[in-house]
Amino acid sequence: MENTENIQTTPEGFGPVLAQYFTGTAWLKMLVTPDENTNCNIGDVRFEPGARNNWHTHPSNQILIVTNGVGYYQEEGSPIREIKVGDVVNVLPGVKHWHGASPDSRFAHYAIDINTEKGVVNWLEPVTDEQYNNFK
Ligand code: MN
Repeated sequence: MENTENIQTTPEGFGPVLAQYFTGTAWLKMLVTPDENTNCNIGDVRFEPGARNNWHTHPSNQILIVTNGVGYYQEEGSPIREIKVGDVVNVLPGVKHWHGASPDSRFAHYAIDINTEKGVVNWLEPVTDEQYNNFK
């Protein structure tokens, strides 16, 4: 049975995400980092319940593959989508969006960024509680 105590232990091999771009607690482990032969970035991102990243865009596609739990994904102007293990989201270049855990579940995804020579992410404003709580 899962430990339901509110203890946020750093998962093995993970480090904290950049706090200024997240609300709540999340962890990151880089699986693939770009170099002169590899224009791709793959991160394993884990979110505590309620945690999410800021609104942001990517210069090229970002592909999210859900690996654990239940999360939220939203593009600007569209409703929040609930996403679960095995779901794949292909985020198109320049589309303003955010992703993170649902309120009652931990959540994890792989985030694959392509064409990293163009950059990886452009961070914008935080997702407000009002926006986050607007799941229907
Ligand atoms: Mn993204």
